[in-house]
Amino acid sequence: MLPEMHDTIAAISTPFGEGAVALLRISGKSAVAIADAIFQGRIQPSLARARVQYFGKIVENGHVLDEVLLTVFRAPASYTAEDVVEIHCHGGILVSRRILQLILARGARMAEPGEFTQRAFLNGKMDLTQAEGVMDLIRAQTDLAMRAATEQLEGRIGAKIHQIREELLTLLAHVEAYIDFPEEDISPDVGDGLLQRLGSAEEAIASLLRTADQGRVLRQGVRTVICGAPNVGKSSLLNVLLGYERAIVSETAGTTRDTIEEVINLRGIPLRLIDTAGLRESSDEIERQGMERTRKHLQSADLILRVVDASISPKDQHLNLQEIESATLLVLNKLDLGVHPDWEQTAGARIACRTGEGIDQLVDQIFARVMGGAVNLNDFTLAINARHQDCLKRAAQYCEATRKAIREGISPEFIAVDLRDALDAVGEVVGKADTEELLGKIFSTFCIGK
Ligand code: GDP
Repeated sequence: MLPEMHDTIAAISTPFGEGAVALLRISGKSAVAIADAIFQGRIQPSLARARVQYFGKIVENGHVLDEVLLTVFRAPASYTAEDVVEIHCHGGILVSRRILQLILARGARMAEPGEFTQRAFLNGKMDLTQAEGVMDLIRAQTDLAMRAATEQLEGRIGAKIHQIREELLTLLAHVEAYIDFPEEDISPDVGDGLLQRLGSAEEAIASLLRTADQGRVLRQGVRTVICGAPNVGKSSLLNVLLGYERAIVSETAGTTRDTIEEVINLRGIPLRLIDTAGLRESSDEIERQGMERTRKHLQSADLILRVVDASISPKDQHLNLQEIESATLLVLNKLDLGVHPDWEQTAGARIACRTGEGIDQLVDQIFARVMGGAVNLNDFTLAINARHQDCLKRAAQYCEATRKAIREGISPEFIAVDLRDALDAVGEVVGKADTEELLGKIFSTFCIGK
């Protein structure tokens, strides 16, 4: 169930904890009246100029709770398109909570996670992709992810969806014209024209769908598993890539029992690095569990950095090069100790964690893989998310059904049904066909006060 839209909501928008300032937000019909009741300054909030900060005091039963700055935004020129009051108070945990309690006591309700943004969407301030962009921006871990989120927030995906919808709507209008004149069949000529138009919508859908992988990479990072036999230098590689000591590096085999996960920023791409327990037979139960986890990580990895000791022959490392999967980048470590002649023919990055040699080239190779070769960074920032992907896949299927129906000369009514389904699926991306369940799912992942 979506929360009630007509009441006034309030929340502390800054994170929990001590800080210089905290921000409280109130949105809804009574926002300004509530502010009037608790704020004492040169001017009453209801008489205040919009978007100007006023200095004053928050007062409870004649006692001053805090000195604050207050801003009024009047509907519809606010984030939520409703009347909004923002109060900057001192960043103490107790102070901000007491002011919030006061606001709630005056009739506001505590906001649900993401409810401010949800109101912005429901009041037509932004489409659903933009609302999701807000959260992506908050969660972005690299510059590139941030750029993608900003562009989504500015409506880059929304604009593409709009174009596709226009195309499909025009198509539908043509088909419906035939429905109105039942004596006319769609002639092959007209059919060709329709197919051409459909083709351009299909191409636009396909090109958006192709950005799903980069969307996942930017939002969740590239799941990168570092694996290899004990003592080949996995933890050392993790540390070199992190640029600081994170894992315990030790000369005793089997020290990395648990998996360690860190996100690094590899030229704008978030790389979720997972260091694993070495793969080998072990009688130690904890270590066995660690290896089980390693196998699971390997199955879901986007990239596997398979580390070997280059100074020792592959024959002595029980290494089956055939088993090295396509997701794997072979990393020959300990270059400083000299490369064993048996490795000469083997492709792979040659590095020495100890000296830092070859690390730049390794990073180049990782980057090239993640970017899939050709894409430039500008294309990379247009990146749909899993929900968009799901909608667009369905849209593509309905387009395919439409294409088949037109080709087979099926009656226009049936073509229109497929087209409408395609249109609905595309519309779902931006929230045109909003269902309560969908909205509830999206906005519940937000933080309170956003
Ligand atoms: P792991 O068990 O695979 O995680 O390996 P560690 O990172 O703990 O390293 C095992 C040992 O190899 C440690 O003594 C490291 O100092 C050493 N080592 C790691 N990288 C290099 C390297 O490039 N050259 C040399 N000579 N020793 C290295």
